[in-house]
Amino acid sequence: MFLPQVQLHEAASLDQASDALVRYAPHVRPLAGGTDLLVDLKTGRLRLEHLVSLNRIDSLRGVSELDGCLRIGALTTVTTLDRSPMLAHGFSPIRDATRKMAAPQIRNVATVGGNIASAVPCADLPPILTAMKASVVLWSPEGRREVPLHSFFIGARETVRRDDELLTEALVPLPQPGFGAAYARFGLRDGNTIAVAAVAAGLLLDGDDTIRDARIVLGAVAPVPKLVESAGAALVGQRPDEDAFRATAVTAMEAAEPISDVRGSADYRRELVGVLTERALTTACERARRSR
Ligand SMILES: Cc1cc2nc3c(=O)[nH]c(=O)nc-3n(C[C@H](O)[C@H](O)[C@H](O)COP(=O)(O)OP(=O)(O)OC[C@H]3O[C@@H](n4cnc5c(N)ncnc54)[C@H](O)[C@@H]3O)c2cc1C
Repeated sequence: MFLPQVQLHEAASLDQASDALVRYAPHVRPLAGGTDLLVDLKTGRLRLEHLVSLNRIDSLRGVSELDGCLRIGALTTVTTLDRSPMLAHGFSPIRDATRKMAAPQIRNVATVGGNIASAVPCADLPPILTAMKASVVLWSPEGRREVPLHSFFIGARETVRRDDELLTEALVPLPQPGFGAAYARFGLRDGNTIAVAAVAAGLLLDGDDTIRDARIVLGAVAPVPKLVESAGAALVGQRPDEDAFRATAVTAMEAAEPISDVRGSADYRRELVGVLTERALTTACERARRSR
């Protein structure tokens, strides 16, 4: 597999990047770590004439606190995110995804922005970030807009991002006391394999152990990371016990829209959704209790 001839433009600023994206549209894409994009070009899945590298735009890197949120710059690598001291306490469930995706060599290069913007249905960060109510910031010379992650994806490899916009950061709100989240995923081996099915759960418990808020998000079993609103709503007001989690698992299995492929049949994936929902909820609940 060889990389076809493409012209590489190195943008030194967001303005330069956006200019190039407009000038060469539709035969252009932003380039971050290239772990998705370069594979797509080599396999011929995608044909392009231009790439706009974002790698010189330093403002897109880093993990910090911003207005009560965790700000994850789009160019932050998965390894940098995983090792960030900012992932302590309430934000640590993000590590359920950063530690399971791909392999260290890929994680050293793969960026958070690329994982989200590629909108591949089995991507690992979108489900846990959605369960934690994250949003993404889209920037163009006309301004910036913040889009909740659950409404960013509109189909497999399709998002609401316009061609002239760049994803500059993900914002994860500081979890309140009593909140816990978890991401459970199943792959055919431990390393360097994409998820066959995955479930993220977010739970907010009050002082008497009643569920005040809940989110269930499915990965790899629908064209987009799927927020199952009915499953979350049905948990509110309930005790976080095995019966409630089993009922939620059934709702999640019904909401899944899995396909059959070389990694597993649709029926197998649906079963996995049930098991993973219970696992994610159990871990989220333990973490929620510890955080009160
Ligand atoms: C061997 C291998 C194993 C993998 N395993 C996993 C896995 O287990 N889990 C998983 O989730 N992924 C996996 N991936 C996929 C990939 O590594 C990740 O999705 C990665 O995070 C993509 O980031 P990147 O920086 O490489 O993106 P790129 O390849 O550079 O870009 C991906 C897409 O996002 C767009 N893009 C990138 N940054 C921006 C931005 N700031 N604004 C707008 N658009 C942007 C690009 O134009 C492109 O369309 C694997 C890939 C390989 C090669």
